[in-house]
Amino acid sequence: MIDFVALAQAGVRGLRAYDPGHDLVALRRQHAPVPLVELGSNENPYGASPKARQAVIDALEGLHIYPDPLGGDLKRALAVKHDVEPAQVLLGNGSHELLMQFAQVFAGAGDEVVASQFGFAVYALAAQAAGATLRLAPALAHDHAMPRGHDLDALLSAITPRTKLVYLANPNNPTGTWYSATAFAAFLAQVPAHVLVVVDEAYAELADADDYASALGLLAAHPNLIVTRTFSKAYALAGARVGYAIAHPDCIAVMERVRESFNVNALGLAAAEAALADTAHLQATVAANARQRQLLADALRARGRWLSPSQTNFLLVEFGEATARIEAALVQRGVILRPMGGYGLGDCLRITVGKAEQNACLLVALDEVMA
Ligand SMILES: *Cc1c(COP(=O)(O)O)cnc(C)c1O
Repeated sequence: MIDFVALAQAGVRGLRAYDPGHDLVALRRQHAPVPLVELGSNENPYGASPKARQAVIDALEGLHIYPDPLGGDLKRALAVKHDVEPAQVLLGNGSHELLMQFAQVFAGAGDEVVASQFGFAVYALAAQAAGATLRLAPALAHDHAMPRGHDLDALLSAITPRTKLVYLANPNNPTGTWYSATAFAAFLAQVPAHVLVVVDEAYAELADADDYASALGLLAAHPNLIVTRTFSKAYALAGARVGYAIAHPDCIAVMERVRESFNVNALGLAAAEAALADTAHLQATVAANARQRQLLADALRARGRWLSPSQTNFLLVEFGEATARIEAALVQRGVILRPMGGYGLGDCLRITVGKAEQNACLLVALDEVMA
C-alpha cells in the first residue's frame, strides 16, 4: 500500500477537493425525460451568442491542429475592449485556473494569503494548494448594508509583513454583495506596494449599481493590482472554459512561465472572440438577468425570506433550520439549488436567477415544500 496523502506536498495534504454541489449528470439521468430546473451553478440560462455557437462550428475544421498557444486574437480583442496592452492580458482555462496559479506563482510555504470570510471558495483552495498560510478576515456583520460582504478594513488589518497576495471578489460569490469604487480605491491606496491584490470580477458585467465600478480603472496607478474576468457567466460560455486576467505586463510575463502552452482550446478561443464581439447579445441577457433578479427577489421576500443584496445572477437566501430539508425536497422535485454548508452558511441556499419560467417552477416547488 502506498500512502499517497503522505507523499503529497504539505499544502495538498490538508486540502479538500472543490465541492461542485450535486452530481448533476446523475440527477439528470434520474429525472429524465423531465428536465431539471438547474439553479445551482450560476450559469447563464439565456445561452451563448448564436455567433459564438457558429464560431465553434467553424472552428471544428481545425480540430486536428493545436490552438494558437498565444491566444493572440482574443488577447488583442480584450486589450481593445479594456483599453490595455495585449501584454497585460493572460488567458486561462476558466478564471479558476488563473486564480489557482496566482497563488502557485506568488505564494509558498511561510507566506500568507489574505481573503475574506464568505469569499469565493477557490481563494482558500489556491492558498493551501500553494503551501501558503491562509488568513481569513471576518466579513461584515449580518446587520450591515452588505451583510456578510467583504470588510475592506478587516482585510487591511489581516495584511502582515508575510502577506504576498490578497484575494477579493467584486461582486462576491456566494454572498452577491459588492463594495463601492471609492471604498476600493481607499483600500488599495493603503495596501503595501509589494502585496498583490487579485480582484475577481467574474460577475462584473452583471453589476449595475451606481456605486459599483470595475477595479480596471486603477490598474495604471497600481502595478500590484490584478483583475480576473470570465466568459462563464455573463457571456454564457461556462462549458468552453475561458477566463482571463489583466495586470501589469511584468506580472503577466511571470505568470506566462507556468501557463500550460495550450491551456485555452481552439473552440474556447473561437467562442470567446465571437461572444466578445456580440455586444447586443450580452446587453440583452444582462438586462434580462437584472429584471428576473428583481422579480425573483421580490417573490422570495413576499414569502418572508431574507436575502442578501445582489449584483450578480444569483441570490443568497436564508431558510433557517429547515434549510437541508427544503433543499432535499426541492431536489426530489427536480429543482437544484446550491447548499451552502461548505461556506458555514448551512441555513442558506444560493439560488441562480433563471429565466422567468424556471423561476416560476422554483416558486411553485418552494410553495409546495414550505406548505
Ligand atoms: C464562477 C466563478 C469563477 C470561475 O469561473 P470560471 O468558469 O473558472 O472562469 C470565478 N470567480 C467567481 C467568484 C465565480 O463565481
